[in-house]
Amino acid sequence: MLLMGKNSIQRTHYDVLSVREDASYDEIRAGYRAAILISHPDKLHRKVDVLDLQHKQEEKFLDVQKAWEVLSDSKSRANYDRELQASRQVVEVVYDEVELGDMAMETLDDVQEFFYQCRCGDYFLVTSLELGEMGISLHENRVEIETSSELSPSSVLLPCGSCSLKICLIIDANR
Ligand SMILES: [Zn+2]
Repeated sequence: MLLMGKNSIQRTHYDVLSVREDASYDEIRAGYRAAILISHPDKLHRKVDVLDLQHKQEEKFLDVQKAWEVLSDSKSRANYDRELQASRQVVEVVYDEVELGDMAMETLDDVQEFFYQCRCGDYFLVTSLELGEMGISLHENRVEIETSSELSPSSVLLPCGSCSLKICLIIDANR
C-alpha cells in the first residue's frame, strides 16, 4: 500500500492536456486546443441516453479549462509544479505504515532485530539498540513499548536496505 497513493492515480494538469511536464508554453497551448476540441460539450451528439456520458464530458471539459488556467500562467504553473513534486516525494518515500507488531522479529545476543519486507525484496530493519538510542525501550521478547521521555518520537522512518523507500514505524506507547 502506498500512502497518499490517490495522488498518483489522479491525472495531473499535464496529463489532461497530454503534454510533457517540461512542455513549452506553445506546446501547452497546442495541447489545450486539441483537448478542447475533443472535450467541448457542444461536440457531443445530444441523445437522451448519453446524459451520463455528457456529464462526464462536461467534467472533462472543466478539467481541461482548469489545466489550461494553471499551466498557461508561468507563476501558477511554477506553484503547481512545486505541489506536484511535493506530493510525489511523499508517495515515493513512504512505502507503508507499520507498528512493531507488524514486523518480524529475531533475537540475536540479546538484541532484537525487527524487519519488514520491502517491495524490492530487501528489508526495512531496526534493532532494539537503535530504538533504545531514540529513547524507546522494549519489554523483553514482547513488542511492548516504553518511551523514556516525552521527547521520544511517535513515529520513525526506516529506510530500506537497497532502495529509496521508507516505512513509517508508528510508536504507540499507550497501547
Ligand atoms: Zn526496497
